[in-house]
Amino acid sequence: MAASCRLKPLSRVAVCGGTHGNEMSGIYLAKHWLRDPMELQRGSFAVKPFLGNPRAIEKRVRYVGQDLNRTFTTEFLSSAEAEDEPYEVVLAREINQTYGPKGSAQAFDFMFDLHNTTASMGTCLIVDSEESLLPMHMCHYIQMHYTRSPCPVYLYKLPGEETYSINSVAKAGLALELGPQPQQVVRADLFTQMKDLIACALDFIELFNKGTVFPAFEIEAYKITGRMDYPCYPDGEISAMVHLKLQDKDFLPLNPRDPIFQTFSGEEILYEGNTTIYPAFINEAAYYEKKMAFAKMEKHTFSIPGLQRE
Ligand SMILES: [Zn+2]
Repeated sequence: MAASCRLKPLSRVAVCGGTHGNEMSGIYLAKHWLRDPMELQRGSFAVKPFLGNPRAIEKRVRYVGQDLNRTFTTEFLSSAEAEDEPYEVVLAREINQTYGPKGSAQAFDFMFDLHNTTASMGTCLIVDSEESLLPMHMCHYIQMHYTRSPCPVYLYKLPGEETYSINSVAKAGLALELGPQPQQVVRADLFTQMKDLIACALDFIELFNKGTVFPAFEIEAYKITGRMDYPCYPDGEISAMVHLKLQDKDFLPLNPRDPIFQTFSGEEILYEGNTTIYPAFINEAAYYEKKMAFAKMEKHTFSIPGLQRE
């Protein structure tokens, strides 16, 4: 068996709420922790809570100019300052200065990013890819210790795609995606789940820092392969909605010829793919503008090598 991989202990950890200004669990959690940071304290590392997009939070909208969580690419982070650039581009550069710079030795060791979805994704853990060793171990630890609900692992990065999310400025990261919760609403059940998930993840970091050896394991995870757009009229308006048989079926198998849409005149549209997929973000409110009715996911089992600190 391969020896464990060794990584440096984590000393600087950030938790971001309100990357999207209308996803309220993370916003109220981050505000709560800014008032009372005690809950985040562990012996071996420091945790800094912050609000991702203050102007969007104030307006209770996802973003003001453009989606902040798609703005952490080289294109935006290295662009020259311009008079007319979107607020979020300025903000992304500031966040990159404070918690990055992305890809540098000075970057924060870890960043959590807190989201809600209107889709029925439960307590979903989002990692860039299965190659991110420490986040995958964290997911495994959460799945074993947070037993109140299943925690599906969602691998968001398409092959060849650059990371673009806020936590990509840190050396490693994990996003929580809890739903369903309407935009602008805070539900006590999801709020508590999010708080408990972060507590569990911080416990993992504390154990890792103190020298716990985490053995190799196999884990099931969902990896994105593409996005399904809504059917549209020639003028670009959508011509169908998510089929009732697909609604709320996130991470469940969707087979070829299963219905995925129903047109406004009542016809069914079937899934034309050749293989079974596992849709996620089904009917997410924020993704209408991104032309995505759901993410197409494949289910895989990954072998993750062991991990311990240097
Ligand atoms: Zn979000």
